[in-house]
Amino acid sequence: MTKIGLEIHCQLTKLASKLFCSCKAEYRNAEPNSNICPVCAGLPGSLPMLNKKAVEKAAMISLALGCTIPEKIGFFRKNYFYPDLPKNFQITQYNAYGPTSIGSDGKIEIEGKTIRIRRIQLEEDPGRLVYEGTSEKTMITLVDYNRAGTPLVEIVTEPDFETPKQVRMFLNVLADLVENIGVSDPYLEGAMRVDGNISEGDGNRVEIKNVGSFRDIEKALHFEITRQQSLVERGIQVLAETRHWDEARRITVSSRSKEEEQDYRYLPEADIPIVQIGNNSIEQIKTQMPESIVARRERYIKKYGMPAQVADVLSSDKFYSDLFDKSHNEKNAKEVSNIITTDLMGVADTREKKIELKITPNHLSDLADAIVANKLTRNSGKLALHEMIQSGKPFADVVSSLDLGHVSDAGSIEKVIDEVFQEEEKAVMEAKQNPDTINYLVGKVMRKTKGKADPATTLDILRKKLAV
Ligand SMILES: [Zn+2]
Repeated sequence: MTKIGLEIHCQLTKLASKLFCSCKAEYRNAEPNSNICPVCAGLPGSLPMLNKKAVEKAAMISLALGCTIPEKIGFFRKNYFYPDLPKNFQITQYNAYGPTSIGSDGKIEIEGKTIRIRRIQLEEDPGRLVYEGTSEKTMITLVDYNRAGTPLVEIVTEPDFETPKQVRMFLNVLADLVENIGVSDPYLEGAMRVDGNISEGDGNRVEIKNVGSFRDIEKALHFEITRQQSLVERGIQVLAETRHWDEARRITVSSRSKEEEQDYRYLPEADIPIVQIGNNSIEQIKTQMPESIVARRERYIKKYGMPAQVADVLSSDKFYSDLFDKSHNEKNAKEVSNIITTDLMGVADTREKKIELKITPNHLSDLADAIVANKLTRNSGKLALHEMIQSGKPFADVVSSLDLGHVSDAGSIEKVIDEVFQEEEKAVMEAKQNPDTINYLVGKVMRKTKGKADPATTLDILRKKLAV
């Protein structure tokens, strides 16, 4: 049997400053090695100062994953020598004298399967190594410490996954969750990195390090399962080692023999005192937690009668569920959810595109109201929506500038039908004999009115005139 466990590194991207100094947490657009200070560069004599907000955000992740938060948390030095680590140790958490990391023993349900969370710890991100070409063939390695010291939460699961597909589903749920509680933007480059531990039967554990995309971790795990199974079949023992995913060749490659925990020589970080968390603070953090995705989904189904699938899609996207919550009223809730899930999500499915949307909750609500009141056909609604997305103009302006007013008065529709009858003599004859072909004529009327004629009224008048 295949057993897979994960270590997920999730950056707390919503914080202003790094974990132990006042340098900016947002390092992505800065000149290399410009976002640093003596603390995050690890200069002798500098003292780290813990970012309180980072502790709160990490605690929110802990609570969201059903973990227990201890009364006191502590920090440790994890020693290893690598150029991305200016201090030669990383400040992290470690459960050496009882649980002192920000969360333990949680769980999360994914489609009926329980995934246990072993531990959640708050730690600093190392710097970035930039290779010229690939890491194997490069002659030059550059180091950028802008990222060093930015706040990171490591989430360690038990080896409860059996397939790479389960892993991917879990990661998607986790990404939605951290986005929903407002601690991280998982779609930023490098914001969520995954290590996978994988073993076959009683065989040795292989670790796949630092895969940057969910799709790649799924592929890497697939490759690794096949590799290990083929070794076992040939009677060869799987080595306990660390491998990395070679994106170009789509294989995992051995990178170094795996460090054992004792190699890291964990030491208590004496520069940061033990932090008392206490029940009061936990209760306060709980009040800051937004409605969970599961609760939101339930509310959509129970209160608005949304189909489960629509509620799923909407509740798991924070941007769109916030937009829904701000736009709808009792009467138009279903229509608003329709417009968002069938039209808007198709137009703007990426972070960049969502930011560019100019439509406001008011515009969306007005549009849905008009459709519900039968003042606008869905077709015209789509045109109005696209115009509002582009221009950000209010709904009423868009309707008049595009001349989208709904034609529902029988007189005007009848006039158009008369025109169609003159132009489509053959189709009219056919429809009289075979009423199933009437839709062709409805379509003609729609085209002439640019989709503005009320379909039900049109059909009524057509039937009367054709006597079918
Ligand atoms: Zn700094």
